[in-house]
Parts: sequence; structure tokens; C-alpha cells
Amino acid sequence: MRIDLHAHSSVSDGTDTPAVLVAKAKTAGLAVLALTDHDTADGWTEASQAAEVAGLTLVRGIEVSTTYNDRGVHLLAYEPDPDAPALSDILRQGRESRQGRTGAIVGRLQALGAPITVSDVARHSHGVSAGRPHVADALVEAGFVRDRDEAFAKYLHRGGPASVSRWQVDLLDAVAAVAAAGGAPVIAHPWGRGRNLDEADFARLAEAGLAGIEVDHQEHDASARDHLRGIARSLGLIITGSSDHHGTGKVNHDLGCNTTDPEQYEALRERFGGPRTHLG
Ligand code: AMP
Ligand code: FE
Ligand code: FE
Ligand code: ZN
Repeated sequence: MRIDLHAHSSVSDGTDTPAVLVAKAKTAGLAVLALTDHDTADGWTEASQAAEVAGLTLVRGIEVSTTYNDRGVHLLAYEPDPDAPALSDILRQGRESRQGRTGAIVGRLQALGAPITVSDVARHSHGVSAGRPHVADALVEAGFVRDRDEAFAKYLHRGGPASVSRWQVDLLDAVAAVAAAGGAPVIAHPWGRGRNLDEADFARLAEAGLAGIEVDHQEHDASARDHLRGIARSLGLIITGSSDHHGTGKVNHDLGCNTTDPEQYEALRERFGGPRTHLG
């Protein structure tokens, strides 16, 4: 049974609609797929319907942007109730701060000579969860850069000439909010771009209700994976593996390129199981 617990649709910065993503997951031989768009649950309904048709289990997730010691950390939330008070507040504030930020980023790029506008970006983001990848898409379309990677390397990386920060919830608050919303919080690619969390941090997070660590991820080399696996085992945390698929938006992240062990998936299911109030 192949299980992939991290993928993006065009509801955030993936390039396939939720329905197409689910169909591709089925073709790729996955039995379980988690849809984890950035800071939004808006793709859940479409993906759930497609999963039913395809005969695949969909895990409904959200990748929440958080901050810890002034560094960005992504938190995967599996099957939380997105309408629970604290979590819905976090998602709303995140949405609002993204809206203001896009204009600021575009302004900086225009000053650098890029012929793009906010509405170009909105076309690529379909108006939802707009982020730097969509700004990158507008830059590619305008012929200002070759691809998303070049856009990030030259302009959009953290601290880059067109980077503008946005509001992000504190990581510990996010872990608590996801747990309070009945979800299972798992740290996404913790050592992907710099080692922002060490073993003592993970211990603190485990105490705050963290369920697991995404260990098998393309941005982790073999030694990072071994080390993180050891930390997860010693703290009794669940170990996940995922593609972090973004369609054609990110190369080398094909569906199922990393997978989660079925036993670990069962342990995760226990964390988000129980009666749900938002199945509606
Ligand atoms: P944003 O939502 O604007 O903060 O953009 C975050 C998304 O941009 C991440 O989820 C990645 O998909 C992508 N991203 C962030 N940093 C980089 C980078 N240095 N190179 C390529 N993609 C990146
Ligand atoms: Fe992304
Ligand atoms: Fe991420
Ligand atoms: Zn992701």
C-alpha cells in the first residue's frame, strides 16, 4: 500500500486542480493521498469527491506557515476541523496578510524592471492563497526569468530583493490550534532549508502535542533522514514520508517519490481519528 501524505493543488501553488491531482495519484499507484495546500482547506470538497470516484483514500490536510525563532517552519495538519476557533483565526489572518503582501512584492519587482502587475499574479493564483510561486509564474510568463527556481534564486528567496514577509503564526500556537481542532500536527521537511529545529526543539514540540516528523522528503539527504528518524524514534513521534508534489511547479517531487510506512500511517490515523464534526 503506497501512501503519500503531502501534495499541493492549484488551490495553492500546485499546478493541477484537486480532481486532476487525485486522478494522477491513482494512476501513480497510490492508495492514500493527503491534499495539503498552503494555509487553506478550499480544495478538500473537490478532492474528496474525486477520491470517491477513483477509489482512493483522501486525507484532508493543510500545510500551515508558521514561525519559530524568526525562521519559517511548515506544519502539516491532518484532518483538523478548519472551522475550529483558533485554527480558523490563523487561516483567516494568513489569507489577509497574503493579500496585502502580493502588491508589495510586485511593487519591488516593478522597480527592478519586471513588467508584471498584481492581476497577472492573481491569474496564476486563481485568487486564492497567493504566494511567491505565483509571482514567479507571472515573471516566467513575462519572460523575465526562465522558471520558478530562477525567480526564487534571483528575487524571491527569503531576504532576496523582492522578498516581503507576511504574518505567520507562532509554531507552538499552531501545534496547539491543530490539536484543539482534532487534527494531527506533523512538522514538514524540518531540515529542508537550514536546520531550524534541533532535538531539544522537537522534544518541546512533542510535549506541546506534535504527532510526527516528515522524515523522508526530497530536501533531506540520507544523513538528515537517518538523524531525524532517530530523533522521532527517541521521542515516540510518528515518521512520515511524502512527495510534496507541486505538479510542474517543482521538479523532482513526483507523486509517491517518498512514501509513508503503513504502520506509521495507522498511528497517524489514530491521532486524527474519532468522531468528526465537520463531515457535514
Ligand atoms: P509563500 O507562500 O509565498 O511563502 O511561498 C512559499 C512556497 O514557495 C513554498 O511552499 C515553496 O513551494 C516555494 N519556495 C519557497 N522558497 C523557495 C526557494 N528558495 N526555491 C524554490 N521554491 C521556494
Ligand atoms: Fe509550496
Ligand atoms: Fe512546505
Ligand atoms: Zn508543501
